[in-house]
Amino acid sequence: SLSTSARQTLKIGLIPADGIGREVIPAAKAAIEALGSDIPKPQFIDLLAGWETFTKTGVALPQETVDVLRNECDCALFGSVSSPSKKVTGYSSPIVALRKELDLYANIRPVLSVAPEVGQQPVVDLIVVRENTECLQEVQTTTDTGKEARATRVITERASRRIGQMAFELALARPRKHLTIIHKSNVLSITDGLFRETVRKVPTLPGIDGKYDGVTIMEQLVDSAVYRLFPHHVSENRVFDIMVAPNLYGDILSDAAAALVGSLGLVPSVNAGDNFVMGEPVHGSAPDIVGKGIANPLASIRSAALMLRHLGYTVGADRLDTAVDQVIREGTTLTPDLQGKSSTTDVLEAVLRRI
Ligand code: ATP
Ligand code: MG
Repeated sequence: SLSTSARQTLKIGLIPADGIGREVIPAAKAAIEALGSDIPKPQFIDLLAGWETFTKTGVALPQETVDVLRNECDCALFGSVSSPSKKVTGYSSPIVALRKELDLYANIRPVLSVAPEVGQQPVVDLIVVRENTECLQEVQTTTDTGKEARATRVITERASRRIGQMAFELALARPRKHLTIIHKSNVLSITDGLFRETVRKVPTLPGIDGKYDGVTIMEQLVDSAVYRLFPHHVSENRVFDIMVAPNLYGDILSDAAAALVGSLGLVPSVNAGDNFVMGEPVHGSAPDIVGKGIANPLASIRSAALMLRHLGYTVGADRLDTAVDQVIREGTTLTPDLQGKSSTTDVLEAVLRRI
């Protein structure tokens, strides 16, 4: 975590970007504002990025956005981007670029169900830790027999080591302290083999000095990991605690895990590096519901909580999470993705009342 001591104000970059990002990020902002003196006085800075920014300016991620985040902000909240269905010349995903620019090498995605009663154990309680900076790069060429598409997969020791260390740190902070390394090294023995070996060796790195001795380590092939996420016996969900995975597997796993808790609209994440943290709901821009006022704001409010927690503001983070849990548990004010009839604003107001 970053140092919390010296801050009088907390400068938060807001990048709603496209689609329902513009509906749910303002809700997260309002929830943070409701925390009052639990956190340093928040100061919000609105920043541009996304498909619409690209269509207006020809740039998906303006340099100013990167500069302000880097030089002025303590943290940020990102909404979601719409991506064109076909490749558009000059356009590439601004979130991918932002993760690279700010070296946010870990995408941390907790998937948590809310137990029916306070104090009961949740059925699903795991964290997917996804490597964020490398994996696949594509090219297309034309040969005399037609088009050929290729992807190159890059896995480095450096990236695997630091995501591994982040995963061990997160495991250490959990009651079960259980880490599962996700890979497919029976097929991709060179790339996934390197990932797996490197993560396994983290506890033996110089300077660790037995710090991770209490963490138990398991391995699971990605395909069987998805299978085991959907058990016949609910209790088997507790096989997983922290799951650390290369980029693509982590993405797929966390969407699959989201299905276990009922909606993508509940699952938060942070993109974290050594010097910066950016909250981001796991869901996308949801073009099917955009503008209807029914997007679930809870994933974004939880992302704000996760961001605050990462910065060390535990009290503020707990208050947000508790308020969200109460709203889910009561079940009377929920958006349609959770079989409710309420709007984004209704749900936000319910959360604000509980904060
Ligand atoms: P994108 O390409 O931006 O990811 P998508 O079509 O894949 O767009 P997602 O945002 O990933 O859409 O959402 C998948 C499904 O989950 C959609 O039906 C969407 O409406 C629903 N969904 C996602 N987020 C939310 C939310 N916050 N509230 C309600 N429904 C949501
Ligand atoms: Mg999607």
